Amino acid sequence: MTASIKLGRIAGVQIGVNWSVLIIFGLVTGALSFNYFPDLYPNRSLLTYVFAGLVLAGVFFAGLLAHEVSHAIVAQRNGIAVESITLWLLGGVAVLRGQPRTPGAQVRIAGIGPLVSLAIGLVFTTMCFGLAMIGQTGMIFGAFVWLAAINIALALFNLLPATPLDGGRLLCAGLWRMRGDRYWAAKFAARCGQGLGLLFVGLGLWQVLSHGRASSLWLAFVGWFVLIAAQSEERQASIGKALAGVRMDEVMSSNPETAPATMSIAEFVRTHMWNTRCRTFPLMLNNSPVGLVSLKKLRKISRERWEITQLREVSQPLAQFTLATPEEFVPDVLLRMGGRPDGRIFVVNDGQLVGIVSPADINKAVERAELRLRAGSAPFVSVK
Ligand SMILES: [Zn+2]
Repeated sequence: MTASIKLGRIAGVQIGVNWSVLIIFGLVTGALSFNYFPDLYPNRSLLTYVFAGLVLAGVFFAGLLAHEVSHAIVAQRNGIAVESITLWLLGGVAVLRGQPRTPGAQVRIAGIGPLVSLAIGLVFTTMCFGLAMIGQTGMIFGAFVWLAAINIALALFNLLPATPLDGGRLLCAGLWRMRGDRYWAAKFAARCGQGLGLLFVGLGLWQVLSHGRASSLWLAFVGWFVLIAAQSEERQASIGKALAGVRMDEVMSSNPETAPATMSIAEFVRTHMWNTRCRTFPLMLNNSPVGLVSLKKLRKISRERWEITQLREVSQPLAQFTLATPEEFVPDVLLRMGGRPDGRIFVVNDGQLVGIVSPADINKAVERAELRLRAGSAPFVSVK
């Protein structure tokens, strides 16, 4: 999910909004301005209804943001860096760089979001009772009733025990603690997510076809999103399980072909392009890796600039990649990779580059490991 508009930072986390939020903002504002308020409080001006609808939709999105920010803050407190938070069509997404190390941390990070939504709902519920007691049941009362209901509904929906919803992560943490196998637990919760997604799709389509309720397409759409996200989470869990106990030096491409960071593109093409099958080259400065240059990127540089452009000027800096040591276990490294733009991992020993792991290397290792698991032999034997 990419952010179209960047709103700034909260607790050091980049907050963004995807353009698709406009659709849901419009739908919520429309439903409030043309149905909810006119039905409950007739004979007011259109301007009043639209103003109330816009304010309420704004408060609703602030509540969604508070939910996501709470996940981010608790994740940071549990040692997980948070890349960004993006609001989009179906709510918010907090992108974490890594995953919880214990079931307890998973419970804290997943549980705080629904708790925050519930708390917001209860604050508005209390304010409703307060207004009712002093006889104020005008439009502000109606607004608070809606905010209380929507936030409590949000908390309950998120607690459904199915990944990628928060409740799925809580279920996963519980099973993980019981069975001691995080990947089995993650797979189970992801299967529940696929079941829930299919149920929503089926229910939504059935309502559209049998009752002609076009609004139920929304349910089918949410179900489809849950289904796809849950499938991807199951795949991640399978990779984690297949490669459990496998070290980085067992899957890496050893001693990759490198190039000096200060070399010009022209020199690089003259010296490196004849006897290689590589398409990416780690760049070295004083024997340490400083980035990666790809042939794809170099092809975009015009021929006239080749002599005067150094490779490092057109490289991706090291900060964009994950670093690992040869002894680290692959699943641990994959867990802390989340959200990186490039899936490559630099394997470094005492500052020296010893290997590179690409997404293709991971796929090959998973295929070998899964076949070996099926054959019933030792889980993994390194092939070099
Ligand atoms: Zn959440």
